[in-house]
Amino acid sequence: MAELLALPRVSFASRQASTCVERALSTWTWAGQIHDASGLLTRLRVERAPRSRRSATLATPQNLEVAAAVGVISLEAMEIYNHPTFRMACQQFDLAADHLNVPEADRARLKFPKRSMSVALPIKRDDGGVEVFTGYRVQHHLTLGPTKGGLRYHPEVTLGEVAALAMWMSWKCALTGLPYGGAKGGITCDPHKLSSAELERLTRRYTQEMIPFIGPQTDVMAPDLGTNEQVMAWMMDTYSMHMGHTVPSIVTGKPVGLGGSVGRREATGRGVGYLISRTMDVLGRDASKATAVVQGYGNVGSVAAFSLAKHGVRILAVSDVNGGIRNEKGLDLWKLEKHNAEHRTVVGFGEAEPIPNDQLLESPCDILVPAALERQITQANAGRIQCRILAEAANGPTTPEADAILEQRGDIFVIPDILCNAGGVVVSYFEWVQDLQSFFWTETEVVDKLFRILEGAFTQTLNLSRKQKISMRLAALSLGIKRVQEAKQTRGLFP
Ligand code: NAD
Repeated sequence: MAELLALPRVSFASRQASTCVERALSTWTWAGQIHDASGLLTRLRVERAPRSRRSATLATPQNLEVAAAVGVISLEAMEIYNHPTFRMACQQFDLAADHLNVPEADRARLKFPKRSMSVALPIKRDDGGVEVFTGYRVQHHLTLGPTKGGLRYHPEVTLGEVAALAMWMSWKCALTGLPYGGAKGGITCDPHKLSSAELERLTRRYTQEMIPFIGPQTDVMAPDLGTNEQVMAWMMDTYSMHMGHTVPSIVTGKPVGLGGSVGRREATGRGVGYLISRTMDVLGRDASKATAVVQGYGNVGSVAAFSLAKHGVRILAVSDVNGGIRNEKGLDLWKLEKHNAEHRTVVGFGEAEPIPNDQLLESPCDILVPAALERQITQANAGRIQCRILAEAANGPTTPEADAILEQRGDIFVIPDILCNAGGVVVSYFEWVQDLQSFFWTETEVVDKLFRILEGAFTQTLNLSRKQKISMRLAALSLGIKRVQEAKQTRGLFP
């Protein structure tokens, strides 16, 4: 373990931070906290370690750029984002940056989020009490246009998780050629334990707190885990009331009646279905003989299941946060839909047996679709997964350690998350374009344009993967990261 020496907290103007970095580098033993001119806290740690292993941890973009400009240090995950999912996103980035030979001086600028907000959200509970929730928004880069990304309501939301998801959004948007940087937001809460009125108050308060940082040309939100069209409608209304006129383009994934796009709700799952079907073509597999298992029967998972069933695939098992169900002969999705709507869970469905989540992931099938949370396929279970196609509908479901095992096994075709679930942001982009033009498209136009974009991204990723003999994930990340790097290079560094 490197030794860290703590110095008292000091305040510096932003420009002076470079002196601190240089001083730290020259002495190797300096650790302290800096407030830059805007009052943001920067923590800087320099390890007493050999030059090759020296690293610093900083917490503001300006100082990261300063540190990167100094050019002799390698930057590790910023402490404020310290979370396994953020470290995982950084590991993936580092692998792709090594593959692309991205110069050391460019890496921090590409990797770390441009800005992040953390807000306290006091709301009145229905019982008259007041509770304070925490909300976050991370905007990864604004080089190519506004940032774009979902809003998540989940008890385990942290700043680090949101930052990782924002980073992945950046590579996803670049891979599919959208004029966006990545963003993500979230509120640490269990939406199932809040009434509709409490959810509305929480959403409106969050939107109000975010108003200085969002806008149709700055940052545009969308639904994610635990949020839906209604949440987007409340956000749009709050923002519009503040501006004094209706601004549909502030969010995507809203109800169609408020300027939402037809086909947005189904877009992510539909895209997953399309890419799986393309993969089956590539592998020479017959969909009508294939079986699938879906973890996370929410918006994305259920639409993906229906989309696969349409191609003739038998859905053997599905799960949600309460547990899983399995039927060897295949689940009747229409009956399951009815049960789910009534009970708000797949558990207890009559024509199936219960199955625990870990067994579900490891049960034999042709297509495994993780569509719930990050880090589900890990070092512990990657060796036991029994599928031919792993379609990552969720963001970050596979850890880098699991990736290494899957690569070594060589028998599983991975459709990486930034490609597999890109359908959602692609149709969000269509919705934003339609809102800006106040001119709306038919569902056929939306689906046709969606499949064209996904086809282009799939083909480019597959070609690169084959040409350079690299995994589909490394190929997809390389394409995305390279585009952002080139854009940053062409724009130059301000001032
Ligand atoms: P959702 O809230 O509609 O559904 C999530 C589902 O996962 C729910 O059924 C929930 O019960 C289940 N779940 C939660 N924890 C679980 C666990 N431990 N085991 C099994 N199931 C569990 O959310 P969604 O919009 O469908 O998003 C699902 C995933 O897809 C997330 O990773 C999200 O980031 C990703 N994604 C969503 C979109 C989109 O357009 N909604 C776009 C891209 C990626």
